[in-house]
Amino acid sequence: MFIAGLQKLTAKDFPGTIACLVFTQGCNFRCPYCQNYELVSTDYKACDALIDEHEILEFLEQRKKVLDGVVISGGEPTIQQGLKEFILKIKNLGYKVKLDTNRY
Ligand code: SF4
Repeated sequence: MFIAGLQKLTAKDFPGTIACLVFTQGCNFRCPYCQNYELVSTDYKACDALIDEHEILEFLEQRKKVLDGVVISGGEPTIQQGLKEFILKIKNLGYKVKLDTNRY
C-alpha cells in the first residue's frame, strides 16, 4: 500500500458515519479536472511523504471510540497491491469501510 495522506475526521464523506479518510498514492487516470492531482503520480520513489500502513492501523486502534468508519480514497485505491488485506485489517478493528474508486 502506498498511502499519501490521512484526514483524521470527516462527517461528510461517508454518509451517516463519522469517519477518517485515507488517501492512496497513484491513479490510472489523468483527469484534467482532478482536485487531488498531487496524488495521481505512480512515481512512488519521488513521494517523500508516504505513510506506513502500520501508522494508519495504530491510529485506528486508538480512535475506535470516536470513529465508525474509514473512507479509502485517492488517487485510485484499487491499483494498490494489498488493498484487500488492508481493508480486512480495518474491518477486523470494527470499522465500516467505504471505497472511493473510478472503477464500476
Ligand atoms: S483521482 Fe480521480 S479525478 Fe483524479 S485523476 Fe484519478 S480518477 Fe481522475
